[in-house]
Formats: sequence, C-alpha cells, structure tokens
Amino acid sequence: MENNSVITQKRKSEELPRTTFLPFALPHITQAEIDEVVDTLRSGWLTTGPKTKRFEREFAERVGAPHALAVNSATAAMHLALDAIGLQPGDEVIVPVYTFTATAGVVVYFRAQPVFVDVDPITCNLDPAQLEKRITSRTRAIMVVHIAGLPAEMDAILAIARAHGLPVIEDAAHAFPAKYRGRMIGSISDLTAFSFYATKTLSTGEGGMLTTANPEYTERAAIMTLHGISRDAWKRYSAGGSWYYEVLQAGYKYNMTDLAAAIGLHQLARSEWLLERRRAIAQRYTEAFSQWPEVETPPTPAHVVHAWHLYILRLRLERLTITRDAFIQALTKAHIGTSVHFIPLHLHPFYRDTYHLVADDFPAALHAYQRAVSLPIYPSMTDEDVEDVIAAVEQVIRTHKK
Ligand SMILES: *Cc1c(COP(=O)(O)O)cnc(C)c1O
Repeated sequence: MENNSVITQKRKSEELPRTTFLPFALPHITQAEIDEVVDTLRSGWLTTGPKTKRFEREFAERVGAPHALAVNSATAAMHLALDAIGLQPGDEVIVPVYTFTATAGVVVYFRAQPVFVDVDPITCNLDPAQLEKRITSRTRAIMVVHIAGLPAEMDAILAIARAHGLPVIEDAAHAFPAKYRGRMIGSISDLTAFSFYATKTLSTGEGGMLTTANPEYTERAAIMTLHGISRDAWKRYSAGGSWYYEVLQAGYKYNMTDLAAAIGLHQLARSEWLLERRRAIAQRYTEAFSQWPEVETPPTPAHVVHAWHLYILRLRLERLTITRDAFIQALTKAHIGTSVHFIPLHLHPFYRDTYHLVADDFPAALHAYQRAVSLPIYPSMTDEDVEDVIAAVEQVIRTHKK
C-alpha cells in the first residue's frame, strides 16, 4: 500500500539542518478513517454499536483470539482482566517495574499489592528468573509487559505460572501486531490488554481491547464494562430489542464508542503495512547506529516478530561526555522530538513511598532508564525525516564522544 497519509511532512532537502520540529509521535490518519467517522456521525449511532462489534470480530480474528472486548483504554482492559480473575484486597500481583504506571495502578484499584520484579537488562522485559523468587502464597496473578513491542519470554513465564496455578495477564499496549514463536500476542496467555491511545501502533484516539480464550472471563468482562448490565445497550434499542435489562453488578463505564471503532477498523486493515513501515525505520536506524560504540541498538531476537512501537536507543554513558538529559536537549535543539521509556515505577513518589522502595532495589531497570532515549518511529515519517534523526543523533555522538 502506498503512503496515502493526510499528515505528511513535506520539506525540501536543501533545508538542512531541519528547521521544523519533528514530533516524537503522530497517528497515521487517512481519508478512509475520516470518511468512516463522518459516516458514523451521519448514521446517528455514536456509541457502542455495529462498528464496535465489527471491530471486535476483526481484531479477534487478526490476533487469533476466540474473544475480544472493545473498551476505552488498555487501563480499562487490565482493570477488567483483574476483576475477571477475582482479585481481592490484600492479594499480590507480580508486575515488572519497568513499565507505565497503568500496569501497577490497576492492581492498586483493588487494594491489592503490586509486587515489583526487575527486568532483563537487554530486553527490559520481565525476567523469568527473578519472577519465580517473588511468588508467595498471596500471589494471584502475573502481569507481563512487552516493552517497545518486543514480546517477553512467554514460554518460560507461562511454565512458572502454570506450576504455581497463576493466571498471566499481558499488558500488550506496545505489542500489536507482534508474535512470539509464531503465535500472535493476544492469543497466548489468559487475558491480554491492548491500547489504542493516540501514540500507539493502532490508534483510535483513546481505546483498548481485551482478548481471552476463556468464556467465563469474557462474560464477566462484558457485563462489568457497561454498568454491570446484563445486555448491551445497542441490542436493547435496535429492532427486536426490548426495554428490559438487569443490573447484576456495580459495573464500570468502559465501553468503546462507534466513533473510535470507525477509526480502528481502518487502522486494523492497514496494520501490516503500518508495521512494515515502522520495521523499515527501525532497520535503517540500527544499520546507522551500529557503527557507533557510544550507543546500543535495540535487541531483535529471531524467535519474535517485533511490533516496533518504540525504538529505544541506549547510550553507553561511559563513552560519552554528556548525560542522557543533555543528549535529549541536544536533539531537541536539532528539532528532533524524543521521549524516555520508562521511568521505573519504584522511582515515582507513589510507589516508592507506599511500598518503601529505593532506587537500587531494581538495578537493571534503573540502569536501562538512565541510558534510554526513544527516537521517533511512525509510518507518517518520510525517509528524509528518518535521515534527519540519524544525522542529528550522529552529530551529538560525534561532538560528545570521549
Ligand atoms: C500506553 C500504555 C498503557 C496505557 O494505555 P491506555 O490505553 O492509555 O490506558 C499501559 N501500559 C503501557 C506499557 C503503555 O505504554
């Protein structure tokens, strides 16, 4: 498919160094999404309805999951997952410390305790060896995060989980579409949560999806996502529906709107092309940056398909005369947007103070964080944009190498 994005940066190659700021992330929106949203607006059906149902079916098929429930965020999907497994106050849930706050925040919703585990120093994913040591008689679930879109070691993690009779819940906010040993993320563990936040690989502005093979989890999550009501509103109000419903639980309000699903349907249809484009950018970056011993390029193990949500470059600070923060400032000056993934959770005041954690508790996560710089990687970047990022990074290295 050609790049028919309506948001493309057009610039003459003579204008070097670049004079316009390259954003760190942008969604890839085409006329198809715009037309579908307009069609939805004209249809009179704005909230959960036929487009959401179609999006759920097509997403389930794409990731090979028997059931998919569309919701308004990955955070909602993870909250519903922990509710579905029956998490109780005082229970413990294993959470990798190198992640976004939502992965642990949902555990706190239940007045349960996130038990943090350090990560593999290369992949920054949950380290199976460390995981086993943190399991206690109060552990009720294991959360896994696929950092940057690189799948975690699911076979080892699932083996430990099965040995202890624990469900595995995946935070796959970065991992659509990704594969672990030939299996799509979304079809592997007990419950998987995807994010369609504005910056993610499939974007509906705000949105998420929960996938599972377990019909009991599906039923519970479907009820809890809409007020604990026994039937979907759209069935009630469409032809043949009835006014009667029953409230079975004090549920949440997590349903996806048809406006969001309208965007999602076209992003999903284009998802393979979008991945190819991100992969090409990652390959070009890695080709350029592997020449420089001052930086480390992201790992790309052969047994996975990487979703390339993020390209996290790691600085070898001992070979540079500047800090990571100064490195980022220099890139900002060169008009290149960057970010840092992630500030490990034990450094944030809430987790640090509530669970009495210190920086050295998780050395691999701390070390990874101190050296991380996330570079722009999204399909609406032009080849010129990619070369501008490379030129700017190389210039900073050249100026500040020891
Ligand atoms: C973006 C993100 C989330 C949250 O996704 P929402 O859809 O905004 O709730 C959760 N975990 C990770 C690792 C993320 O990057």
